[in-house]
Amino acid sequence: MTFNVSNIRKDFPLIDSHCLKLIYLDNAATTQKPLVVIDALTEYYKNKNANIHRGAYELSIHSTDLYENSRKVIRKFIGAHKDCEIIFTKNTTESINIVAYSFCETFLKMGGNIITTELEHHSNYLPWLAACSRKSGELRLLPIADDGFFSMTLLERLIDNKTALVAVTGASNAIGLLPPLKDIIKIAHAHNVPVLVDGAQLIAHSFVDVSAIDCDFFTFSAHKIYGPTGIGVLYGKEAYLEKMHPYNYGGDMVDRIGETFGTTTWQNLPTKFEAGTQDVGAAVGLSTALRYINVQGTTCLHAYEQTLTQYTLKRLDSIKGITVIAKHSPRVPLISFISSIFSPYDISMLLAAHGIASRCGELCAQPLMKKLGLKNGLIRISIAFYNTKEEIDRFCDVLEQIQTSYL
Ligand code: PLP
Repeated sequence: MTFNVSNIRKDFPLIDSHCLKLIYLDNAATTQKPLVVIDALTEYYKNKNANIHRGAYELSIHSTDLYENSRKVIRKFIGAHKDCEIIFTKNTTESINIVAYSFCETFLKMGGNIITTELEHHSNYLPWLAACSRKSGELRLLPIADDGFFSMTLLERLIDNKTALVAVTGASNAIGLLPPLKDIIKIAHAHNVPVLVDGAQLIAHSFVDVSAIDCDFFTFSAHKIYGPTGIGVLYGKEAYLEKMHPYNYGGDMVDRIGETFGTTTWQNLPTKFEAGTQDVGAAVGLSTALRYINVQGTTCLHAYEQTLTQYTLKRLDSIKGITVIAKHSPRVPLISFISSIFSPYDISMLLAAHGIASRCGELCAQPLMKKLGLKNGLIRISIAFYNTKEEIDRFCDVLEQIQTSYL
């Protein structure tokens, strides 16, 4: 299928809306939804809604099939081997918390350590800080060097025989960098240490194959890949998930309730980690979003986003008083910058006054802001495949106007 941005835009009601004159460049926060996803949610609640797993009637059986088929679509999309390795959660944050709680309960010994990096979103930092605190352990941070890259020698030095896990982002939500996942995983595995990849910013912009990169856990949120809010995914290797305790306790996840907690047994994977009524409609919405992306063709969507990103970087380079933080490639299609005159908040407000949606501040990445010495944070624009060169031109023109009016 040939890529045509005008046609793509017609698929997204909020983007195509002629009433809402908005240039939406806040896709890293959440993406807009194609009509097929909105329709799938409506259709589910209109004609297919029933609780899953325990109903003998046709509507419940059909709803269960929709839910389980969605799991299969997700498994294929990220290249996992088994359906039971795909756990539905609320979002990336919950997926990481499950691992930080359940994995660490078993595998993080008292006084042990977890390694994460200076690049992380708070969701891939605080759960580990809490886990280390529970085990009187240490959270070690792999620093980024001045050139924005990680030193694999330093990683080697940080890992020791008390390291339980390495947690690293697939792509930085703050500055767009792509850590060298394969190298990190290779080094960690050489020390028998598993790796969790926070895929929240990677999933929509890069081909993901969890089996090829051989990560042990992978997490993402549906709402960042054109799906609904309220649902996320935790991929985990079966061998680890089997050994981990449940995270939530309640309906569906129990096998037999014993006299004591110790004699109580749990359902098999993935149900062990899916206590209570799940968001079935959102699971259907997510699989519909992934099917939509597959039909458009991930390769051409990603290539288009990269072209727009490179174009934006070039244009920003020529605006006086604007400094882009980290211009590296490869990167995900988000760009952060600061102004020599205005605070990030002021720029974001002025852009908003011109109908341009951006994001500003610390971007849930305080350790990185501290490292970069950015007290007020950054302004971030983030691109999706429905954005156009004209939108980028308008954004850059407005930014230039804002800057020059005060220079
Ligand atoms: N990790 C990264 C890299 C993110 O960018 C985000 C959200 O922006 C998260 C985790 C948390 O995602 P959610 O809020 O969907 O749980």
